[in-house]
Amino acid sequence: MNILLLGSGGREHALAWKMSQSPLCSQVYIAPGNAGTAQVGINLALSQNDFPAIRKACLDLDIRLLVVGPEEPLVRGIVDYFHANPVDGMPVIGPSQYGAQLEGSKAFAKAFMERHGIPTAAYREFDADNFEAGLAYIRQHPLPIVLKADGLAAGKGVLILNDREEAIGEFTQMIRQSKFGDASKKVVIEAFLDGIEMSVFVLTDGKDFLLLPDAKDYKRIGEGDTGLNTGGMGAVSPVPFADDQFMNKVLERVVKPTVKGIQEENIDYKGFIFVGLIKVQNEPYVIEYNCRMGDPETEVVMPRLASDLVDLLLATGNQTLASKQVKHDPRVACTVMAVSGGYPGDYSKGKTISGLDLRLPAGSLLFHAGTSKDGEKVVTSGGRVLCVTSYGNSIPEAVSQSKKVLEGITFDGMNYRRDIGYEFE
Ligand code: ATP
Repeated sequence: MNILLLGSGGREHALAWKMSQSPLCSQVYIAPGNAGTAQVGINLALSQNDFPAIRKACLDLDIRLLVVGPEEPLVRGIVDYFHANPVDGMPVIGPSQYGAQLEGSKAFAKAFMERHGIPTAAYREFDADNFEAGLAYIRQHPLPIVLKADGLAAGKGVLILNDREEAIGEFTQMIRQSKFGDASKKVVIEAFLDGIEMSVFVLTDGKDFLLLPDAKDYKRIGEGDTGLNTGGMGAVSPVPFADDQFMNKVLERVVKPTVKGIQEENIDYKGFIFVGLIKVQNEPYVIEYNCRMGDPETEVVMPRLASDLVDLLLATGNQTLASKQVKHDPRVACTVMAVSGGYPGDYSKGKTISGLDLRLPAGSLLFHAGTSKDGEKVVTSGGRVLCVTSYGNSIPEAVSQSKKVLEGITFDGMNYRRDIGYEFE
């Protein structure tokens, strides 16, 4: 069958790579894709948010499965669009616009967790109507305090503050001066949780679910987790501190009640749930839900998924996931992301990437993120450019192999963290 995948990042290259290996897949198309996805499928010059054009492509190309990589089309309602304008027999992987609010609105996600008894930091939500109450709440709240713009703010809408006056100033700017545009019309204020983070990935058909391999990502630009936040500089899977006892708590207290909540509330949800967790004294708390896979976590999760992804996605669309199982590759996988000089601040694009024709050693995979073709050349087209995932018997072994491969790849200004997985050495 033919499959269409929306998106253009490293996540999409990893998903397309995995889907293209399935005997069920004749051709994978990626819209708009990148220079890497063009190696495993056919890129289509379509915007991921142009739903009528996507539908036309589905009809023209006899697409039988539509997979949505990033959150934006989901939050904009692509699943609802295809419900109203179906393409015969073609499931769309992702939640409805209502369900996507689990990612698109932090207040929605917190209220959902509260309704279903899912452990998360204590919180209150405020907007222009109860602004004064918000100020009073901050004045009596222990420090540090966490302020979150309700809507999507490209990872910048979360502030962790140690100073009460600063918190009051930021809160005022968020609500009164629209610091994050409409995203901060509403603000969630929550308690700070001191622990270590990891992510759990769930595939649900709205009734049943399967757990994919877990992962931990590295968000800061600088080694030792310093400097500005990025989209993600690397990831490891599995997470060494997520032992059976802890994962059982995650399953019972977080995953099962989340899927049950989705079902009880009749939320149309056939897709991935990315649960961002923090482990505090061996107890899991949910930091956030995302309604799609993570990037760069997908670049370690897909290599460790030993089952047929297309088979699992079809079962998700047909609501027969209960009959499926997930097999995990027992090896460790780690990915190291190479980024443009200056990222996550200003950076330039169009730099020629050399070394891409190099033979990868056994056990390494190269996934493109911000790359595009310029004639015969491959050039940079984004902040995060490409990543190298390697398998290994241990995290240090896998990371060291990825770094070795990256030494053979160059572009002007290229930067990457050499310490991914450092705490597990
Ligand atoms: P955006 O909506 O702007 O894209 P986001 O979805 O990345 O942001 P979160 O995942 O909720 O926002 O928070 C970002 C980061 O802030 C988390 O990965 C975590 O490190 C930190 N964080 C969030 N909430 C808390 C908390 N209650 N206690 C401690 N750290 C937190």
